[in-house]
Amino acid sequence: MSVDQQISEYYDKLLKRNAGEPEFHQAVSEVLDSLKIVLGKDPHYADYGLVDRLCEPERQIIFRVPWTDDEGQIQVNRGFRVQFNSALGPYKGGLRFHPSVNLGIIKFLGFEQIFKNSLTGLPIGGGKGGSDFDPKGKSDREVMRFCQSFMTELHRHIGEYRDVPAGDIGVGAREVGYLFGQYRRLSNQHESGVLTGKGLSWGGSLVRTEATGYGLVYLTQEMLKTHNESLDGAKVIVSGSGNVATYAAQKVQQFGGTVVAMSDSSGYITTPNGVDLELLRDIKENRRERIHVYAEECDGVEFVERGNIWEVPADVALPCATQNELDGDSAKLLADNGVRYVAEGANMPCTPEAIHFFQDSKINFAPGKAANAGGVATSALEMQQNASRDSWSFDYTDERLHAIMSNIFKNVEKTAKEYDREGDYVAGANIAGFKKVADAMLAQGVI
Ligand code: NDP
Repeated sequence: MSVDQQISEYYDKLLKRNAGEPEFHQAVSEVLDSLKIVLGKDPHYADYGLVDRLCEPERQIIFRVPWTDDEGQIQVNRGFRVQFNSALGPYKGGLRFHPSVNLGIIKFLGFEQIFKNSLTGLPIGGGKGGSDFDPKGKSDREVMRFCQSFMTELHRHIGEYRDVPAGDIGVGAREVGYLFGQYRRLSNQHESGVLTGKGLSWGGSLVRTEATGYGLVYLTQEMLKTHNESLDGAKVIVSGSGNVATYAAQKVQQFGGTVVAMSDSSGYITTPNGVDLELLRDIKENRRERIHVYAEECDGVEFVERGNIWEVPADVALPCATQNELDGDSAKLLADNGVRYVAEGANMPCTPEAIHFFQDSKINFAPGKAANAGGVATSALEMQQNASRDSWSFDYTDERLHAIMSNIFKNVEKTAKEYDREGDYVAGANIAGFKKVADAMLAQGVI
C-alpha cells in the first residue's frame, strides 16, 4: 500500500471513530499530512499500530460540575480532561473555561499539546481539559464555587507525576488559585507540582504569566533573523487582548516594533502609534470591560465593531485569540496589505486554507505547536522549581525561556531541511515533535 493510501486509511478510520469533532479532525489531518513525508523515508514509524495509538487518547474523563449561583439556583456544567499521551512525561496542558468547549475541542487541543510539549525538549506528555462554563459576567464567588466543584472531581485524576493542568482561555491566576485551594483541601497536602500558573507566593514561577507571549515573539524574531530582518521598526497586528496577546504585544514593543491593532471577540482597535498596555490591562483584567473602552479613553484610536482585524496593513501578524480566527480570505487580505510573517500565538488560529495560502505565497509561517510552546515550557520550569523547592529570578527564567524558543526554531528549521522541505515550518514542527514521541512509544511497547 502506498504511503498516501496508508494515511487516508488512518484518517477515514479517525473520522468514523470521532464523528462530529471537526476541530479534532483538522488538527490530526495537518499532522498526518506531514507524516506522509516521514513514513516515506522511515516506514518503521507505521509499525506496532503507532499512528492509530497516537491518535487515540490514553484516557478521556467527562464529568458533571454542579454549582450554586448567587441567586441560589443550581447550575450544571460539563467538565473534561483528556489525558492524551504520557510517553514523554506526565500529561501536561491547560484548562479552558468557555461556552464553546466540547469533547472535540479538548481533543484537538490535547493532540496539539503532545507535539508542542515534545518540541520543548522537556519531559512532559500531552493533555488538555476544561468546561463549557463561561466565567464572563459571573461574580468572583460564582467562579470560586464553580472551580471548587470542578476540582472536586478532577483531583482524583491529577498529580505531580500523573497529570499537571494549567490555565488557558478563561482560566487565569484567579481560577488557578481557586482550583489549587480546593485540591489542597481535598488532598490535605501542599503539592505545588500539581498545577502550574500558580501565584508567586505559593509555588508559582516568575515569567509564567508572560511566557507564551514572550516566547512567541522570541521565536518570531528568530524567524525574521533567517531573512536578515528584525522586529525593530516592524508594524505588528496582535489579535486578542488576553494573556498571550498582552505579553506578545509587550515584547514586540520591547524589540522596537509597533503594535498597530488588537482585538477581543467584540471587534478590533487600530493603534497606529502603538498600544498603552497598562491601560489595556486595566480595562481587560481589572475592570473586565470590552475593548471599545480603550478607544473611548485613548486619542487617535479607532474601534471597529465585529470588524476583521486582518485588514489592517502591517509587516507581521500574530494571531493570539482563538482557533480558526484567520481564514483563507483573511490570509489574502494580509498578503495584499504587506504582511510577510505570521506566527501563531493561539492554538490553531489559522484555517488549513490560510496555511496553504501562506505556503503557496511564500509568506513565512510558524505554527502554534512551535510558536506558542513558551507557556508550557515555562510551566515545566515551574515544575522543576517546585520539585527542587527553589524559585528562580525573572532574568534567569526568561533566559531559559529564550534559549528554549531559539532551540525550538532551530530544531524545526533543521528538521524541515532534513526532509527536503526547507522553510516549511509546519512540516518541520510536526515531524520533529512526532519523532521524539514516536521513538518513546516504540521503545515502551504496545500500551
Ligand atoms: P485569554 O482568555 O486570556 O484571552 C483570549 C482572548 O481572545 C480574549 O481577548 C478574547 O476576547 C479573545 N477572543 C476569543 N475569541 C475571539 C474571537 N472569536 N475573535 C477575537 N477575539 C477573540 O486566553 P489566552 O490568551 O490564554 O489564550 C489565547 C489562545 O492562546 C488560545 O488559543 C489558547 O489555547 C492559546 N494558548 C494559551 C497559552 C497560555 O499560556 N495562556 C499557551 C499556549 C496557547 P473576549 O475577552 O472578548 O473573550
